[in-house]
Amino acid sequence: MSASDQLSVPARILQEVFGYSAFRGAQADIVDHVTAGGDALVLMPTGGGKSLCYQIPAIARHRGGRGVAVVVSPLIALMHDQVGALEEAGVHAAFLNSTLSSEQALHVEREMMSGRLVMLYAAPERITNPRFLAQLDSLHERGLLSLFAIDEAHCVSQWGHDFRSEYLALSLLHERYADVPRIALTATADELTRADIIERLRLEEARIFISSFDRPNIRYAIVEKDGKPREQLLRFIRDEHEDEAGVVYCQSRKKVEETAEWLEGEGIKALPYHAGLDAALRQKHQDRFLREDGIVMVATIAFGMGIDKPDVRFVAHLDLPKNIESYYQETGRAGRDGEAADAWMAYGLADVVNQRRMIDESPAEEDFKQGQRGKLDALLALAEATDCRRVRLLGYFGEASTACGNCDNCLSPPATWDATDASRKLLSCIYRFHQNGGQRFGAGHLIDVLRGKATDKVAQYGHERLSTWGIGAELAEAQWRAVLRQLIALGHVVTEGEYHTLALADSARAVLKGETQLLLRVPTVPPKRGKSSRVA
Ligand code: ADP
Ligand code: ZN
Repeated sequence: MSASDQLSVPARILQEVFGYSAFRGAQADIVDHVTAGGDALVLMPTGGGKSLCYQIPAIARHRGGRGVAVVVSPLIALMHDQVGALEEAGVHAAFLNSTLSSEQALHVEREMMSGRLVMLYAAPERITNPRFLAQLDSLHERGLLSLFAIDEAHCVSQWGHDFRSEYLALSLLHERYADVPRIALTATADELTRADIIERLRLEEARIFISSFDRPNIRYAIVEKDGKPREQLLRFIRDEHEDEAGVVYCQSRKKVEETAEWLEGEGIKALPYHAGLDAALRQKHQDRFLREDGIVMVATIAFGMGIDKPDVRFVAHLDLPKNIESYYQETGRAGRDGEAADAWMAYGLADVVNQRRMIDESPAEEDFKQGQRGKLDALLALAEATDCRRVRLLGYFGEASTACGNCDNCLSPPATWDATDASRKLLSCIYRFHQNGGQRFGAGHLIDVLRGKATDKVAQYGHERLSTWGIGAELAEAQWRAVLRQLIALGHVVTEGEYHTLALADSARAVLKGETQLLLRVPTVPPKRGKSSRVA
């Protein structure tokens, strides 16, 4: 008897079909559970190995005479890749989507109806197609519908960032084929999204498998913008990632183009990518990024989903993402090969103000906006944190951990100072403006008044006569900006209108009274490291 005869069926499939010697993490448990006919909800980070969690049960159940597994996926490119790889490994798989000719689609349907097909990949909208449903009914009646896998399951949640309404219809899989096991998978789901997935996909009976969301090889760093963030980025790339592949995220198309061009001028192989570029050019840039070494892709968030490049060495943000889930997903594109990688973000006062304004000005319902604000606040708290970034990040996903030793705050703990007094000065200055004629002002003027700087505007409004004039001369402008940013991030100060004038929130009262203590980071230069000190 050879050694492989003693292996379980899934373990043998893992070796013989995929060529891997052992399951990773929760894979073995998930595969056993689903192969035996159980429902599962799988939360596993990007690169964790979600595909095998349904591919192996599909193969095992097909061998047991149970027919076809249907994999629902919204990503056409990924379907192509996976089907290609499966066929190459000798597993009969196919996809149905809009890219097929009717002849090709007919051929796939015949393979499916015969039960010969092991796995069928389909876009979510296909599930509500009456013709397709009739085919599923027929398979089901003949006992040849083996499994449903629902990939990117967070798309069913309106709270998430990739909501797709077609996903809502997937509850019918449970209603129509209650005895067919279902496995839903996602790489991103905080508690709210998780609850949504369970409810909307009718997964109340499913066993939930939560893998650690930690990506230990990713080093997190969030630096303060010093007025020239592009140059901070360039320094970061030159010092740590010369000739390595990376992604730089910017919020607007214009900024993407400007940044790519500027980096190019500085000798970095940078390419722009955003939804406004001609499709052929976009494809060309994507292909170069995937095939050539050391390309830096400067992109909006239109770039990334479904792009599987293992050796992305860094992801940089020049603008703040929407929330922690987006941050986690975007930074998660770095280091999928397990080698050391960096998640680097530059962040400043204007980012906070912009993101707040985007929420305020969006046409959404008020309680949706309130939800968005809460999520943004959590991200701001991460950016302002003086303790371990990873502890905060994992904590957001409900995972407890201890200081990681591989983030900027762990590697060079920021010096902090007690900004309680300074905060009170700043708040009372806004209060005085308001008392003194009801006028509102922006950050620049506020800081001039606090520092006692005699500008034309000060003279125009007679602000040198305010009791708060010059009460903050001991702090530098950058320090005042940090105090203000923190007060905005914490919601004590709100910004209004197109000039971002400042006003006090109700919660400012407690700070003014000295009831709330504020510890701020002293601005520092981020830690440097040589390539040799990388962790694997
Ligand atoms: P995800 O969908 O969770 O992002 P994938 O399913 O694409 O992850 O898997 C990521 C990579 O890890 C793939 O290259 C896959 O072949 C590999 N992989 C998955 N499971 C194993 C395993 N048990 N042993 C070795 N490699 C694995
Ligand atoms: Zn840390």
